Amino acid sequence: MYSNNKKIVIVGTGIVNLVSAYFLAKEHYDLILIDKAPSPFSNSHWKEQGCTFGGENVRMFSYTEADNYNEKDSQLYSKMDRAFENTIDQDGWLVRAKEMLSLPEQEWIQDFHSVNPEEARQFGEDIYTVNIRSGALWETWITEAQGLFEDLDFRRGILRIYSEAADFDVAKQLHSRLGSLVHVLDKEEALRKYPVFRKVNATGKLGGCMTAKGFTLKVQDLSKRIIWYLMAYGAKFRWNTTFSGVQRDQAGVVKGIIVDGELEQYGHYLLSLGAYAGTSLDTTQSNNLVHGVLGVWLTIPNVHPELNYSMKIHKAGHVGEDTNVTLIHQNGEPVLVLGSGYGYVGNLTENRIGNDELEGIYKSLKNTAQTYFPEAYEEGAATIDSTKRYCVRPWTPTSLGIFETLPALDNGKLIITGGNNTGGFTQSPYIADAVVSQLKDKTHPVHSLFHPKRGIRVLEEIPKVNG
Ligand SMILES: Cc1cc2nc3c(=O)[nH]c(=O)nc-3n(C[C@H](O)[C@H](O)[C@H](O)COP(=O)(O)OP(=O)(O)OC[C@H]3O[C@@H](n4cnc5c(N)ncnc54)[C@H](O)[C@@H]3O)c2cc1C
Repeated sequence: MYSNNKKIVIVGTGIVNLVSAYFLAKEHYDLILIDKAPSPFSNSHWKEQGCTFGGENVRMFSYTEADNYNEKDSQLYSKMDRAFENTIDQDGWLVRAKEMLSLPEQEWIQDFHSVNPEEARQFGEDIYTVNIRSGALWETWITEAQGLFEDLDFRRGILRIYSEAADFDVAKQLHSRLGSLVHVLDKEEALRKYPVFRKVNATGKLGGCMTAKGFTLKVQDLSKRIIWYLMAYGAKFRWNTTFSGVQRDQAGVVKGIIVDGELEQYGHYLLSLGAYAGTSLDTTQSNNLVHGVLGVWLTIPNVHPELNYSMKIHKAGHVGEDTNVTLIHQNGEPVLVLGSGYGYVGNLTENRIGNDELEGIYKSLKNTAQTYFPEAYEEGAATIDSTKRYCVRPWTPTSLGIFETLPALDNGKLIITGGNNTGGFTQSPYIADAVVSQLKDKTHPVHSLFHPKRGIRVLEEIPKVNG
């Protein structure tokens, strides 16, 4: 039943919830936002932040940005079967040896493998559908709220290059089918337009090249602008404030949430916790669904000659695979920000990642920078290690995001979203659309596409109730 109560608490202030909050403000909700991290406007260390503010200040929208990472028979992800068997230095995804995985982590991995190829193909299609529909919402938003998107180094169009011709052929067909392919460049055109790739071509690592639809921007600047907008609207922000659980009665109705150890009650609740939920969702079906997959960043100058497109590089191999290269300005200078890599870190509640765990992924990213941008790498060599950053993406065993709704007292609702793997930024407007619809009691495709039990076999069926 519909509730007139407009008071909603939003837990987690990463990009996914900030975009939802923006559209809830448009619907005149009374907003309180909580995050356990310090304010992103403070001088706190980036390691204290979630994925959005902890990583680099860049993100890309593309039709394939969120993807299905367990399509067992696909060409692009053909090696996923062994990813959770091996550590990063053995060409796998594990940051710790397999023997050190906890029981919940083993169950998550079992769930990953239990998705059958037919289901996986469907999930892949659904993920692309969400990306594409989100793209349409991004376009409307960018047109309607121009002030929000000014001075963000917004750049349209993605140059996609592939080290292997076979991978390129598959990707070309996919992007053509999705309506994302703009132009295929043959070698001659590619090297004429982008002489920077002459050296990599000489090493045989330029298997194909195309331009595709998409855009890049400075995500942290956009997020901060949304926070300013929300503060001007009257939203209240509570930083350094920790949520630790959902209280439900015997009938499963949400009584409130535990914040800094106390029960707090609101009309509605929206939770999107990134990769650090730990066990705080243990009274919901989303419990143990979202684990963390680490990625790293580095920055080099954009020189010799300056690149004019943000890029995605698909390199054959396990650790690096796709690298996003985003063109922005830092202190007035043009730079290339490279982000890439996969390191499964399990179900953490905080950032406990050490340098050793990062090293294999970071080395692979450095290798990509050196292979594809040799002059820029050389020029930035002295400072490159000081630009190293990482963050942990929220990831589910099915690669689908999650969207769970629980009834709350007085016809209120508690909604859990997130787990959008490599495309949380990309999918955020469509998730926001699903949140607004849910609060209006309108159905939305995401409610069923991202249902937390979809494709899940191993995890507990009945969530625990805490009286
Ligand atoms: C290297 C790399 C490159 C990427 N590139 C892209 C890209 O180009 N395009 C794209 O679409 N996506 C990209 N992603 C993925 C994207 O960054 C993430 O999907 C997205 O940032 C996740 O946002 P979120 O809001 O779900 O989580 P977060 O940003 O992690 O936000 C969750 C928030 O919840 C808070 N929180 C957690 N637990 C609690 C609690 N118990 N109490 C209170 N607060 C809590 C955290 O402090 C955090 O601020 C990339 C990721 C990586 C690692």
